[in-house]
Amino acid sequence: MAFPIDRPRRLRRTETLRSMVRETRLTPEAFVYPLFVCPGEGIRKEIRSMPGVFNLSVDEALKEVREARSLGVPSVILFGLPEKKDEVATGAWAEDGIVQQAARAIKSEVKDVVVIGDVCLCEYMSHGHCGVVKAATQSLGAAAAAHPAPGTNDYEIVNDATLELLARTSVSLARAGVDVIAPSDMMDGRVGAIRAALDKAGYENTPILSYAAKFASGFYGPFREAADSTPQFGDRQSYQMDSSNIREAMREIALDVEEGADMIMVKPALPYLDVIAAARLRFDLPLAAYQVSGEYAMIEAAARNNWIDRNRVMMESLVSIRRAGAGMILTYFAKDASRLLA
Ligand SMILES: [Zn+2]
Repeated sequence: MAFPIDRPRRLRRTETLRSMVRETRLTPEAFVYPLFVCPGEGIRKEIRSMPGVFNLSVDEALKEVREARSLGVPSVILFGLPEKKDEVATGAWAEDGIVQQAARAIKSEVKDVVVIGDVCLCEYMSHGHCGVVKAATQSLGAAAAAHPAPGTNDYEIVNDATLELLARTSVSLARAGVDVIAPSDMMDGRVGAIRAALDKAGYENTPILSYAAKFASGFYGPFREAADSTPQFGDRQSYQMDSSNIREAMREIALDVEEGADMIMVKPALPYLDVIAAARLRFDLPLAAYQVSGEYAMIEAAARNNWIDRNRVMMESLVSIRRAGAGMILTYFAKDASRLLA
């Protein structure tokens, strides 16, 4: 059958009709709201490249959690800005680490929120990498390893030594009341190492949301300002994925599932909708996607120039991520989008 019998426009005539046949719906329950927690009190410092997103002290973060929750958003994911950074990421796994403090406060004040703890070391390492750094050549001393000359390949992000710190961090977060552990470092074997450590510590009921396919992306730029996590030398291409590879993304996800991931994530979202769609077809675990800082910043910047309609583009981008197959969306728009959906 074809035109004139077939007229798809018949179903687009009114908003009620369009709404009846709508295939993809957004609800606040799909959103996870990222928060950047910093030391201090009464601090709400806007991130220059992410208007409307703030570094928040614990008391201010609590206000955000309450507001997000009242808008129907079920979950927040916490990132930390520690007082001090060092070469063993102490701030990540210390009992009084900034995320641990925030998690305790949030869980005691807002009972029904799902607190996700991002697990990575870059925010807590003085060199800003997601793992332990060692000199690749024996001739280099420790000082040279910590501060290699720019452009050299004389350092290595050591995989297995990093796993121990990630596991320690995860147990510490679970102990502080974090509901879901979300490793974002892209080391090999981290999900298995974290699962084993959580089980050993008695947290066998704490689920793992793995950043299973995380690409080395230019879209993370504003986040690095937000989380103060820019690598002091080199880049993250030896652990995060090459943006060209979708088969490798499936392999990464499959490995994490085998190691015990309860939920999987693709990051970033909009430039990787094909990866989200492929993962949805292939894996039956709950699937999340992270609409990252650069995606947010582009929309905000264009809207500020009156080049696009902010709310319309915000909702369209979120629907597209959902349509591609993500059940959960980590997004800085969580509150604003939920307001529009109310
Ligand atoms: Zn990291």
